[in-house]
Amino acid sequence: MNNYEIDVGRPPQEVMIALSLIEDFQKKNKTKYNIKIDFDYGMEYSAGEFDEEKPNVIYLNPDNCLPTEESLALGSVEDGSIFGTMMHEFAHLILLGHRVDVRTAYLKNFNLQRQWINDYCETDIEEEMAEVFRLYLVNPLLLKLILPDAFKFFKKQFKSPSPCSQKHTVAMYNDFSWTVKEHLRDTFGIDHDVYEDKIIKHI
Ligand SMILES: [Zn+2]
Repeated sequence: MNNYEIDVGRPPQEVMIALSLIEDFQKKNKTKYNIKIDFDYGMEYSAGEFDEEKPNVIYLNPDNCLPTEESLALGSVEDGSIFGTMMHEFAHLILLGHRVDVRTAYLKNFNLQRQWINDYCETDIEEEMAEVFRLYLVNPLLLKLILPDAFKFFKKQFKSPSPCSQKHTVAMYNDFSWTVKEHLRDTFGIDHDVYEDKIIKHI
């Protein structure tokens, strides 16, 4: 077990779920970053932040995160919950703080072929990269169906802590709200084939 420091006594449960996924990532990829979760309720506009000067710290303001039931969904293309925010900042932590080589390769590969999985990706390619990597960490099969090239890119570099299986993806899909399911179908052609119990992509 790596060292994790959390600066509040009783962190929200979603923080612990994200930390356990981060720990699985570290085990699978043989990294040993001593990550600190710094709760900063003074951050006015952002839910989370990452500062390259402090490459092991994830800043989080839970007040600016969406409650789970209001965020689009845990493990979907858009996730503004505490869990989603932490995984997004962890993506920055890896790509900007420790694996700048992967960041550089991503810029080279996808600069002219942007990977928009949600509106936040329009901010800039740095945010797009973090969002795509977040999806690779939490729901790799969904990323593979939506953006096969980006999936292939991250798979070459890292082992995802989440299974790339139908079972995992169907379980997550079943927890999505109707709004999320509709959005996945209308925007990406992603659907649940109930007969086969598989997540599929219509061409
Ligand atoms: Zn970001």
